[in-house]
Amino acid sequence: MIVVDKQSCDQCATCVAVCPVDAILLDERLTIDSGKCIGCGRCARVCPFGALSEVCGQPAGAGKE
Ligand code: SF4
Ligand code: SF4
Repeated sequence: MIVVDKQSCDQCATCVAVCPVDAILLDERLTIDSGKCIGCGRCARVCPFGALSEVCGQPAGAGKE
């Protein structure tokens, strides 16, 4: 999943334009709809401020034996 560093986000909307599933909402602040996000990573690659990063969707150890 993708997480937003709100301190770094400049609300430039570059990421919104590249998301193929419209999972990024830019209102007063940026939010990612994790239900829609397919984890393609495009938004993280285009962000000029490095405000988006991909993280593992599961806490360490969850779902594994
Ligand atoms: S591309 Fe980066 S700085 Fe621009 S709105 Fe998206 S997260 Fe914020
Ligand atoms: S990882 Fe892909 S699907 Fe998810 S918010 Fe970013 S651009 Fe959209």
